[in-house]
Amino acid sequence: MNLLDPYKNCRLCPRNCGVNRLVSSKTDLSGFCGETCQLRVAYVGPHFGEEPPITGSKGSGGVFFSGCSLKCSYCQNHQISHHGLGMIMSLEKLFEKVEQMILKDRVHNINFVTPDHFFPHVFDLVTLLREKGLDLPMVYNLSGYQSVETLKAAADYASIYLPDFKYSDSSLAGRLSKCEDYPGVALAAIAEMIMQKGFLDAGHSGSCTAKRGVLVRHLILPGKVENSINALTSLFVEFGKGLPLSLMSQYHPAVYQKDEDLNRFVSEEEFDRVYSHAIGLGFEHLFVQFPEKGPWPRPRKSSFFPDFRQPDPFSS
Ligand code: SF4
Repeated sequence: MNLLDPYKNCRLCPRNCGVNRLVSSKTDLSGFCGETCQLRVAYVGPHFGEEPPITGSKGSGGVFFSGCSLKCSYCQNHQISHHGLGMIMSLEKLFEKVEQMILKDRVHNINFVTPDHFFPHVFDLVTLLREKGLDLPMVYNLSGYQSVETLKAAADYASIYLPDFKYSDSSLAGRLSKCEDYPGVALAAIAEMIMQKGFLDAGHSGSCTAKRGVLVRHLILPGKVENSINALTSLFVEFGKGLPLSLMSQYHPAVYQKDEDLNRFVSEEEFDRVYSHAIGLGFEHLFVQFPEKGPWPRPRKSSFFPDFRQPDPFSS
């Protein structure tokens, strides 16, 4: 199959737009993600903000793609997901940059962040890397809104999946991410990922960095504690206490939101309720990002709030 074929009638994500992305300009597009078949990349470089088994001591080799198939209204990376920041890059150029991260920076893995709308390019890149003997763990950092069919296509090119499980509440998913079907779609996607790779192998593989498996992430949203509590319960019921789970409290108001709750940070009381619930359920492999302490409002410059206009978006 030609690299570009899947873009002709694009159904790479559950939006199932069925549009032709082989157009020469973005103005001719009607797909939800708004991306043509030209690969666009916002940032390539070692990233130290992931969970310890992914970051290790030398960093995870981040490849941040422009655009997104989910486009949550509060996106923490809104510059690249909503505002199109990034540049058209040939596969050869991206290969060079990734090769440099592997050989020069000695990163532990290659970490594709929001790659699903460019999956055909990603699969070709992984093939090229392996042909050159650069066979690191390939991490797919995903929104959770993926179809089982697309994940089956990704199986041979992925080692680790880091899916979000954002919503248990369909109406919240509809309001904030325009996908009321998110809870069911994401649980089916996570089940497929676990069937392919199992739970994250960190701590079991004799290495402090992970080589294979699934780690699910949940970002606590301010004012939406019930959504978080029900999301953790759903994960526990579906996958059990052995599921590696990362609880994140890093939410920053990135752009003004109609929903007033989302214009603030997560309070310590909100975090405590969700954290206590996770502990009460008995998750055995819990990665926890505790809320930052300090004066309110918190500084907008934070390693969890990257500025992709800067040469090093994660510098602080
Ligand atoms: S990748 Fe983009 S165009 Fe393709 S189905 Fe998803 S949102 Fe639509």
